[in-house]
Amino acid sequence: MSVLSAPHFHNEKAAYAYVEARVWPEGPVCPHCGGYERISKMGGKSTRIGAYKCYQCRKPFTVKIGTIFEASHVPLRLWLQAMFLMASSKKGISSNQLHRTLGVTLKTAWFMSHRIREAMRDGDLSPFGLDGGMVEVDETYIGREPGEPVTKGGNHKMKVLSLVDRESGAARSMVLDYVTAKTVGEIVVANLSREAILMTDEARHYVKIGEQFAGHGHTNHSAGEYVSRFNPQVHTNTVEGFFSIFKRGMRGVYQHCAKRHLHRYLAEFDFRYSNRVALGIGDVPRADRLLAGIVGKRLTYQTARGAA
Ligand SMILES: [Zn+2]
Repeated sequence: MSVLSAPHFHNEKAAYAYVEARVWPEGPVCPHCGGYERISKMGGKSTRIGAYKCYQCRKPFTVKIGTIFEASHVPLRLWLQAMFLMASSKKGISSNQLHRTLGVTLKTAWFMSHRIREAMRDGDLSPFGLDGGMVEVDETYIGREPGEPVTKGGNHKMKVLSLVDRESGAARSMVLDYVTAKTVGEIVVANLSREAILMTDEARHYVKIGEQFAGHGHTNHSAGEYVSRFNPQVHTNTVEGFFSIFKRGMRGVYQHCAKRHLHRYLAEFDFRYSNRVALGIGDVPRADRLLAGIVGKRLTYQTARGAA
């Protein structure tokens, strides 16, 4: 049976039940007052699906309140379809494709996909490389940096720094305005355990940072060395593999994006990479993990459109 034939993708009541079971594993909680004891499901023909009433504060609510679905008129079953498609498409899925597949307007599809990216944003800021694990760090260049003239170096492109924890397989990426020892150093220090072994290429901005960790291995790419001749564990091939998926997606599916949205696309590629099949996470559990991220990630149309 196709995973897409599951009832929560087609039936609105089933969609609410599916989301409620994940947002409220212990039963409904009032988003207005936090109460959970005096809540009843609202009945009657004119009542909206999924409506509850809290008799502590006397206010009605649904599971959408306080999540990325709040104030959206798109049926929940279509949200679940969009989330499944985004979670399971390795290189991403364009707003145009979502618009055609789901039958919503292009503007709605664009907004849904940005809200879903918000749910993909990882709240876990625990350091990489705990217990002496190896962490690869590298930067890549993509698209156009606003207002920068085209030069030989990568300065006219947007800069991305990514970290991959070899132990957990997780990726964490950010947008940089400049690539310097200071900007790179601050991120690496904030995201790596002191016990970690840092793996980078020979770029100068890693030399000083490397001294702060238990170890620092680096290859010499400019000399054609991609795995150290002295130690086969010294390489950055994992993070470069992540960059290649990211770039294929950005070129093939999203056709680049404005800098103010780049961090959201990075959250999307980080999410799928950190929950990939090679780590034992299939499409259905990956979509469920995405659903776990919907709470407290409300994004208004203004913040989605606005600068940075
Ligand atoms: Zn209440």
